[in-house]
Amino acid sequence: MRALAFVLNAILALGLLVWLGLHFAWIRIPPNILPWAALNLDAPPGWSPRLRINSLSMDGPQCLMTLARSQLLYTPVDERPVKDGCGLESGVKIERSQIPYNQVFEARCAVVAGLYWYERDLEALARAHLGAGIARIDHWGTYACRNINARKEGRRSQHATANAIDIAGFVLSDGTTVQVLRDWGTDTPKGRFLAEAHRGACRYFNAVLGPNYNAEHRNHFHFDLGRARICR
Ligand SMILES: [Zn+2]
Repeated sequence: MRALAFVLNAILALGLLVWLGLHFAWIRIPPNILPWAALNLDAPPGWSPRLRINSLSMDGPQCLMTLARSQLLYTPVDERPVKDGCGLESGVKIERSQIPYNQVFEARCAVVAGLYWYERDLEALARAHLGAGIARIDHWGTYACRNINARKEGRRSQHATANAIDIAGFVLSDGTTVQVLRDWGTDTPKGRFLAEAHRGACRYFNAVLGPNYNAEHRNHFHFDLGRARICR
């Protein structure tokens, strides 16, 4: 009995200490750690960024509010309800993000939120492997009303709802370029950077496809927030 009383008292005392710590802000919980607290895209992601991004994907208004609190420059896009598998819901048009893109694009809010976090990692990876920052991300687009791999039959691609983006390469701050087609799989700093950039995207996107997946992806990475989980 005595031991039990001791344990209970210890738990109570610990609880009181934690409460005091939080109350007087001796203990500070970093943003994005508590799953019920609002997301802060300008702070490092917590332990499960992909789960958080998927929650945003299911809640358009919440996602748009989260983007509005970030440094991203964008304009909301009029709703284009999905018809025959194509449309754009909770869409935004990116004017300027932390890293510039080669062309303005529209995408579903959650894809943009994922990219926003991913850009931080990309920048760090480029500095580590290539000794330069990223001046531009070259993408081939987000929205296209088409089936997977542009086949006549089959399911709609995630691009049909702008729930995906294709990235072909990067321009570094020193002017050099990294291209998936040219540098993927090479035993060079650029090749290692691309391998890590591919793997790193799996933290934020449900499907991440590259040259190892199939020949159609030999020249770009495809990221999407569809239901399939694949990282290859
Ligand atoms: Zn794609």
